Amino acid sequence: MSNIIDGKAVSLEIKEKLKERVEVIRAEGGRIPCIAVIIVGDNPASRSYVRGKIKAAEYTGMDSRLIEFPEDVEEAVLLKEIQALNADPGVDGILVQLPLPRHIDEDRVLDAIIPSKDVDGFHPVNVANLWLGRPCFVPCTPQGIIRLIESTGESIEGKMAIVVGRSNIVGKPVAKLLLDRNATVTIAHSRTRDLAALTRQADILVAAVGRPGVITGDMVKPGAIVIDVGINRTEDGHLTGDVDFASASQVAGWITPVPGGVGPMTIAMLMENTLKASGLSA
Ligand code: NDP
Repeated sequence: MSNIIDGKAVSLEIKEKLKERVEVIRAEGGRIPCIAVIIVGDNPASRSYVRGKIKAAEYTGMDSRLIEFPEDVEEAVLLKEIQALNADPGVDGILVQLPLPRHIDEDRVLDAIIPSKDVDGFHPVNVANLWLGRPCFVPCTPQGIIRLIESTGESIEGKMAIVVGRSNIVGKPVAKLLLDRNATVTIAHSRTRDLAALTRQADILVAAVGRPGVITGDMVKPGAIVIDVGINRTEDGHLTGDVDFASASQVAGWITPVPGGVGPMTIAMLMENTLKASGLSA
C-alpha cells in the first residue's frame, strides 16, 4: 500500500506561512496584498472554485475583490474591467475564472492582463519566460504538483517522469518544471501508442487527462510517485481522479488522493503568487 500525499495538509502548511507573512506586513503598516477574481456567469463548478479562492485569501489575511458579470456580458466590458484592474495600484493579482462563455475570446481576455499581475501564469509573456527559464509567474496547478512531489522527500533529479496530458494549463508546464529539476520527461496524450508500456517506466507519473480511471494499477511502476490531477464528477456526484486509486495505490510508493491532493495545492499556489505579485514576499 502506498504512502498518501496529503495535499490538504501540505497546502495548509503553505497557507499558514503566507498568513504569518501577511501578519508581519500588517504589523509593519504595509499594504495588504490583494487578488481580484473575475467570474462570468453561473457555472456551479466555476462558482465553487472561485469561492475556494476567496476563502483562501481570507484565511491568509490577504484582500480580495470578487467581480461578477452575467453570462451575456460583452467582451469589451470585460476588457475594460481588466484595464482598470491593471492600472489599480491596490490590486496585485488578477484572475479570470475559466471557462468563459463562447462569445468571449478567452485568449484576448487573458492577454489583456498585465503580466506582472498574471497570478495564474497564463499570459504569453509568462509562458515564454517559463520556457526560457526566466523569472515568471508559474501556473498554479503545475507548481502545486512539484511541491507535492517535493513533499515526499524524494529527489526528482534523474528520475523518469511521464506526464499524461499536454494542455497549456497543466501537462506542458508541469513537464517543463520537471525538466528544470533534471527529470527525464516524456509527455503522453490521446495519440500516444501503448500508454501502459510508457507509464510502467515512470518513476514519477502525472495524470492530467480528465478521464476517470485512465491510469490503472497495472500501468504503474512499483514504488512510483503518482500524481492525479484529474477532477471528474461521477454520476452520483462524487469527485474522482484520472487514476484508479484502489488498484494504483497497491503498487505506487506515493499517491495523491482525489479530492484532497492537487486541488488544494492549486489554491495555495495562487495565494503564493499573489504575495509574490505584491513584491512583499519575505
Ligand atoms: P485538457 O482536456 O485540456 O487536456 C487533456 C489532455 O489529456 C489532452 O492533452 C489529451 O490529449 C489527453 N488525453 C485525453 N484522453 C487521453 C487518453 N485516453 N490517453 C492519454 N491522454 C489523453 O485537460 P486539462 O489539462 O485542463 O485538465 C486535465 C484534468 O485535470 C481535468 O480533469 C481537469 O478537471 C483537471 N484539473 C485539475 C486542476 C486542479 O486544481 N486539481 C486544475 C486544472 C485541471 P490530446 O492533446 O491529444 O487531446
